[in-house]
Amino acid sequence: MINDTIAAIATPAGNSGIGIIRVSGDDAKAVVDRIFVNSKKEHILSSMESHTISYGFLLNGEEIIDEVMVSYFKGPKSFTAEDTVEINCHGGSFVLKKALDLVLGNGARLAEPGEFTKRAFLHGRIDLSKAEAVMDIISSDSEISLKNSISQLQGCVYQKIRDLRDKILHEIAYIESALDDPEHISFDDHKEEFVKIIDEVSKETVKLLDSADNGRIIKNGIRTVIAGKPNAGKSSLLNYICGNDRAIVTTIAGTTRDIIEEKVRLDDISLCLIDTAGIRKTEDVVESIGVDKARQYIEDADLILYVVDSSIALDENDHEIIGMLKNRNSIILYNKSDLDPVVSIGEIQDLIGDTHIIKTSALKQEGLDEFKKTVRDMFISGKIDPSNEVIITNLRHKEALKEAVLSFENVNNSVKNGLPEDFYTVDLMNAYSSLGGIIGEEVDDDLVNKIFSEFCMGK
Ligand code: GDP
Repeated sequence: MINDTIAAIATPAGNSGIGIIRVSGDDAKAVVDRIFVNSKKEHILSSMESHTISYGFLLNGEEIIDEVMVSYFKGPKSFTAEDTVEINCHGGSFVLKKALDLVLGNGARLAEPGEFTKRAFLHGRIDLSKAEAVMDIISSDSEISLKNSISQLQGCVYQKIRDLRDKILHEIAYIESALDDPEHISFDDHKEEFVKIIDEVSKETVKLLDSADNGRIIKNGIRTVIAGKPNAGKSSLLNYICGNDRAIVTTIAGTTRDIIEEKVRLDDISLCLIDTAGIRKTEDVVESIGVDKARQYIEDADLILYVVDSSIALDENDHEIIGMLKNRNSIILYNKSDLDPVVSIGEIQDLIGDTHIIKTSALKQEGLDEFKKTVRDMFISGKIDPSNEVIITNLRHKEALKEAVLSFENVNNSVKNGLPEDFYTVDLMNAYSSLGGIIGEEVDDDLVNKIFSEFCMGK
């Protein structure tokens, strides 16, 4: 039953100034009316206007549970598109739990995680891509990621997918009509135009798919590996960049044996920073596992930060790392620049070629501003702009786009091989339905339940 009345605490667990209990469904008003009174002990909720808020008390029999503000939103003009009542309680976890129990004891049931947003989707108030954007807004941890989620909530993905689907549907309809009424409608006359349109739609889909790489960066941060031989200052730099003492810093070479991951926000973007075991040839079994892992992380990284200890000569370990930097996004951190240099910047440039080299001193805390600017220039400035383009950040959307691209390729092959047009419609229908999955038009209940179960409680 969709409209049974559900309730949950919609604000984070833990003590805070206010905590909100959201109640949604046909009986939302009736449920809260039983337990909410104004200062004259009158039950006033049934006569409250939509989109207004009233002051009063929550009562359990004669006992006052809390002093509250109650707001009422008549469906469909509410988050869920159902009648919704929100109770603003004091934000203590104990009082909130008592208030929620009271609501549940008076006719509501506890909402499942994501159920409020799921209802908004099932009632057609938002499409699936917008519902997923709600989840992304909640988990956004950088300015650019938030901006992108907001743009998705406003429907940029939805609109783009709808446009593509409209064009596909138009072509399917044309083919079907020509097959039904060959005397009046000729597909052959339209074929050239058909190929052009499918080519355009396919290119736009590929462009969306390509945006998913930037999307991952926006959502999860730039996957950044810190590499360098032991003692170059990797852990010290990680701590300097993170602004805390996350990694253990010691003077014994080879102590960072495992991988340390840290999410760091650099102004409006995030880095997912990975400190690896120093690369060096080693007999120590545990350390060598760390070194192998480090090599793997370097392969998968968006950005490699190669830390050079400028106070000692480059050795074979440095040469091995330098070998891994070919054709990769990398920044050289010329560290310990507070000491007398043994390696010169020119020497590094001779080995690596044109690259970003930044003088740093983890000890003196120097170089961070230039580092931030360089990362920004490499990844964001002029490259990612969520306010101007549609960027895919959701893996499910990415998979659906991949399927659509495959279907377009099949159409192309059918055209090239001179197959009859009913072959085209099968693949076009597949593309239409894959794209529909993104906005929730061709998804089954299991998938809907799975997507919404990933939400937090109260959303
Ligand atoms: P890792 O093995 O590459 O992670 O290196 P650590 O961060 O553990 O640093 C090794 C040693 O170098 C420690 O004694 C640090 O205090 C020192 N160190 C790190 N960065 C600097 C720096 O910029 N200047 C100086 N003088 N010492 C540094």
